[in-house]
Amino acid sequence: MVRESELIVAIRQVLGAPGERVVRWTGDDAAVVRARPLAVTSIDTVADGTHFTLATHSPADVGHKALAAALSDLAAMGAEPGEAYVSLALPAGFSPALALELVRGLATHALETGTTVAGGDVVRSGALVVSVAVTGWAESEGELAGRDGARPGDLVAVTGALGASAAGLLVLEGAGSADLDEATASRLAERHRRPTARLGAGRALVAAGATAMIDVSDGLATDARHLASASKVRLELSLAALPLAPGVEDLASATGRDARALAATGGEDYELLLTLPVDRWDEAAAAETRLTRLGSVVSGEGLELTGVRGAKRLHGYEHL
Ligand SMILES: [Mg+2]
Repeated sequence: MVRESELIVAIRQVLGAPGERVVRWTGDDAAVVRARPLAVTSIDTVADGTHFTLATHSPADVGHKALAAALSDLAAMGAEPGEAYVSLALPAGFSPALALELVRGLATHALETGTTVAGGDVVRSGALVVSVAVTGWAESEGELAGRDGARPGDLVAVTGALGASAAGLLVLEGAGSADLDEATASRLAERHRRPTARLGAGRALVAAGATAMIDVSDGLATDARHLASASKVRLELSLAALPLAPGVEDLASATGRDARALAATGGEDYELLLTLPVDRWDEAAAAETRLTRLGSVVSGEGLELTGVRGAKRLHGYEHL
């Protein structure tokens, strides 16, 4: 058991060696990082009771998830991950040993993604809250994509497969336990607890011509509206083509849900939704192992969803 006074020292040991860009890091008053031309910065916060519960997530899961959520915004820009700065707000019952387990989960995922945890802060709080600010890097603006570049005539595509996180959350809440085989249930739960950002795909897809991009963090139905609004265009998408993660149809049928509606509204899959000119499709499809065309960009505004019953009313997660 680590005493609280030793927590910061113990955290530093867990973090391992910093990346090459990092000149000064934890243990100094501020981090010093050798910059590349463009810094891409985002911050993300996860709170117990809002984004996870400790009843269904280990401290290491929370650390992993907090970093993955922050990195996903760098993936959506096409940036290369660099440094992370972590604020841990720990409730009274959360021991230094549990805090260290959380940091281990975060540090392991940092290593997997080439991210250096270069600084942070620990405070006492009423609930467990983890904020992660990440900085990514790029050589030029052309290496990056925003939400506002979609043009009428572009096609709309999504990476990977959707619905695993939403289905995993339902599994963790006890849904479908009678009808789902154990391996499928635990795979879905794992996708909810330990998502991964599509960092390599984000960079490759910008290089392959993506005109606009957003990570699917709040659910496709909501994130597609954000992209349409930022680009001042209308997206026409068919959910009939929506790629479903393994096990999502099983969970949906075990619980009487529409699998595609679940996948279109469940957040935290951290796949990428993007637009690109039709003549760049082959290049983009070659750059990404699984890319599915969902529809087109047209002039106008908003989002038109078709392909499942009640599609027009589907919404993902709304903040505040
Ligand atoms: Mg995002």
